[in-house]
Amino acid sequence: LKPIHVIGGGMAGSEAAWQIASAGVPVILHEMRGVRGTDAHQTDKLAELVCSNSFRSDDHTTNAVGVIHEEMRRANGLIITTAKDHQVPAGSALAVDREGFSEAITAKLEAHPLVTIVREEIAGLPPEDWDSVIVATGPLTSIALAEAVRAHTGETDLAFFDAIAPIVYFESIDMDKAWRQSRYDKAGPSGDTAAYINCPMTEEQYNAFLDALLAAPKTEFRDWEKDTPYFEGCLPIEVMAERGRETLRFGPMKPVGLTNPHNPTVKAHAIVQLRQDNALGTLWNMVGFQTKLKYAAQTDIFRMIPGLEKAEFARLGGIHRNTFLNSPKLLDRQLRMKSMPRLRFAGQVTGVEGYVESAAMGLLAGRFAAAERLGQRLEPPPPTTAMGALISHITGGHLAEKQTFQPMNVNFGLFPDITDYSKTDENGKRLRGKDKGRAKKIAQAIRALQDFDAWLAGEAVVAAE
Ligand code: FAD
Repeated sequence: LKPIHVIGGGMAGSEAAWQIASAGVPVILHEMRGVRGTDAHQTDKLAELVCSNSFRSDDHTTNAVGVIHEEMRRANGLIITTAKDHQVPAGSALAVDREGFSEAITAKLEAHPLVTIVREEIAGLPPEDWDSVIVATGPLTSIALAEAVRAHTGETDLAFFDAIAPIVYFESIDMDKAWRQSRYDKAGPSGDTAAYINCPMTEEQYNAFLDALLAAPKTEFRDWEKDTPYFEGCLPIEVMAERGRETLRFGPMKPVGLTNPHNPTVKAHAIVQLRQDNALGTLWNMVGFQTKLKYAAQTDIFRMIPGLEKAEFARLGGIHRNTFLNSPKLLDRQLRMKSMPRLRFAGQVTGVEGYVESAAMGLLAGRFAAAERLGQRLEPPPPTTAMGALISHITGGHLAEKQTFQPMNVNFGLFPDITDYSKTDENGKRLRGKDKGRAKKIAQAIRALQDFDAWLAGEAVVAAE
């Protein structure tokens, strides 16, 4: 069998190589560390953890990250099983001894007879005779490769920074204060004139919000982030606020073209808008609210906005050096680049965020590529599973997502809704608020793992054909 090439031996690339070799297909893993470093990695070990040593929650009964852990475990995941072997105490989180962990991953891949590791930078599009390639070069993809991909995809479809606005769960927005309306009732591509959720502010509320924003603790850009070429990130909201007390009112918080149906005679002094962020309508992003504020300050300050007092955040805002593709536009459901299907992408470069999510996309890319090499076709897991929800988010092809695509962690907001779960406690009392939310998460987690098992069983059938 001809080998599959994997570029990048991080979370995704190591997992992909393992999955390919485990399917009996030879793989060549090209990793540049050893001959060329990145600005964040410290060693030449495979699957180095660049920052925290935590894979986050390991609770697969109520937490979407824990569910994806469990799915990876059931699919012979290298990253997750090795993490367990090198676990250090961290409550319900799965944290590891970082050195022991990366050393073990390196040793397992080096020892596998079907894996060849080459230490080199792939500094452009891979040679044409590599007919199956997985690009898993991560948020710090070397500039030469990123440039080549960008030249192929076009300027706007590969970003060098993410500028993330906070994302709120729809069910936590108080619609007795907020309302749906597009500015000047302008119809969008689908004819919808109520595409946004609007949160109104009085002058007093706006001033209090601005004061809190200006006083809040911020994270600084790292020196090497300031030096990265093509810094095109939008301005953080707090930087806009520093430019003058009216700047936000003439920018993302302008109150024009909107009428509050809860209070039609009073004109709002400022309005915060949220835009739908996923096809399901469960997640909404705060338009123009990309920010470098510290996380704790973000929740406190954004809950000052009328309608968002009880907001639960699927993710908070941030601005980081991060190379990622406009995957909903560029990739097919098999993570192949539509315009060059011999290239698959995996890991953070596909627009997922985090060690776990990156490894999960490496796992799928590896399995897709191996199946293809063996003359089979493997469908992605269904969107009711954690991996399926994530891959369907990044390759969903939903128009809104293409326009506003930003990296995403796995969370239950990406899963299809579930209605058939018990809404009463053991005494027959109706569940409310957090208790009801917990019951729903439990049901979503059970459904995810059942459906994942069925997908794995189906995969075995495909392999046998
Ligand atoms: P990586 O793990 O970065 O692997 C990519 C590999 O490709 C690297 O080994 C790199 O050397 C190699 N490479 C790049 N270009 C080339 C090339 N041209 N040729 C050959 N090899 C190449 N996520 C978390 O969950 N928790 C955190 O605490 C966390 N902290 C982060 C801190 C920083 C500074 C950054 C940048 C990201 C952080 N992330 C964190 C996000 C992200 O999940 C991790 O970066 C994760 O490692 C991504 O996995 P990956 O496999 O996509 O990329």
